[in-house]
Amino acid sequence: MRRVSIATTVSSGNFLPATDLESKLAILADAAKYDASCASSGSKRESRGGLGSTEGMGICHSYTPDGRCVSLLKVLLTNVCIYDCQYCVNRVSSDTPRARMSVEEVVRLTMDFYRRNYIEGLFLSSGIIRSSNYTMDQLVQVAKTLRDRENFRGYIHLKTIPGADEELIEEAGLYADRLSVNIELPTLGDLQQLAPEKKRDEIEDTMGQIKVRRDEVDADKKNGLRPPRFAPAGQSTQMIVGATPTTDRDILATSSTLYQTHRLRRVYYSAFSPIPHADSRLPGQAPPLVREHRLYQADWLIRFYGFDAGELTSDEQANLSLELDPKHAWALAHREQFPIDINLAAREMLLRVPGIGERGVKRILRTRKHHAIRDEDLSRLGIVYRRARPFIITADRHPGPLMIDRADLIEKTRPKQRQLMLFDAADSASNGQV
Ligand code: SF4
Repeated sequence: MRRVSIATTVSSGNFLPATDLESKLAILADAAKYDASCASSGSKRESRGGLGSTEGMGICHSYTPDGRCVSLLKVLLTNVCIYDCQYCVNRVSSDTPRARMSVEEVVRLTMDFYRRNYIEGLFLSSGIIRSSNYTMDQLVQVAKTLRDRENFRGYIHLKTIPGADEELIEEAGLYADRLSVNIELPTLGDLQQLAPEKKRDEIEDTMGQIKVRRDEVDADKKNGLRPPRFAPAGQSTQMIVGATPTTDRDILATSSTLYQTHRLRRVYYSAFSPIPHADSRLPGQAPPLVREHRLYQADWLIRFYGFDAGELTSDEQANLSLELDPKHAWALAHREQFPIDINLAAREMLLRVPGIGERGVKRILRTRKHHAIRDEDLSRLGIVYRRARPFIITADRHPGPLMIDRADLIEKTRPKQRQLMLFDAADSASNGQV
């Protein structure tokens, strides 16, 4: 593998560095678009005495036509990298234009954009410059300068570099709202194959340090203390899907373990994008975007609907259906558990009915305390009648034992095809809600 220093990288052959800020921004914002882990909900930061604030939900996002979320100042400090991860356009062996911004340049851009109301926050990542510590220190310096010198109270998401010293992680958490450490690929084998310089242990150790620090802060708060804030919007990660043949079953198992072990707020799934002059082990085509979407839906079911990762796929059917959402596919594969009585079923089981969402379940539980729910009540409760009908019994209708075994049940309950609006797709792609 070719190893080059920044100096030689940016001054030889095609690697002439961009020098003016506008060109640097064009290169570095474009390079950052591959990182999906940039949603910004879940943080509150008061604006008292400073510039800007964060709201409980979201910052200024824009969406690309394929549904990815990109915030305007989502940028890399540099796309120069000493590593050679095969799926990454910024890898050392990639023939891509390079640029690097100084700490001051990123601070200046953030403040300028903020004052002009272009952005409400900063998502900052970086290629590995000299070492994990050196890179992490630069990222921390940006956040520190924004907070301490510029009094910036907007949202900051810092990408955490695995293997950086604990003191740097600690400092990063003091200034950032969210920290993220990318797991990169779903399995250890995938990582060893395509990014051997990245160490799964190191990545998970860094996630573990963030979790421990957040746990300490929570414990101090419970004991009536007022500890300094530490990454109040929590930590997230990203994994690339479709770069290897790894199945959705393994992907969801990894996510589930990460949620449990490191208390992650989100796992982001980023469909592999083919890159120029790629390694022959990589596929020539991106996986269908709907696969990414199905993973977000499955992830949502695991986090909020009580599904176990292993239930949504099987050894025989190790990938999620691209045709049906995972809850619908699960219900069709487990017909023996239906129909359920909407007036008697437990919350957990109601959540498993296609066409009934979390809000619908809340309404059902509230309504049935007062009167038995009949068919005519369903649409008022926000239930998609066509989809839910064969799976539920109401006070005035029983679908009958034959209904659930019908061979054409998929067709009968499949959502009607309709042209998606860009913003429908974007919303669904970003939150995966089923
Ligand atoms: S360390 Fe990050 S930026 Fe560098 S090659 Fe790997 S994925 Fe790309």
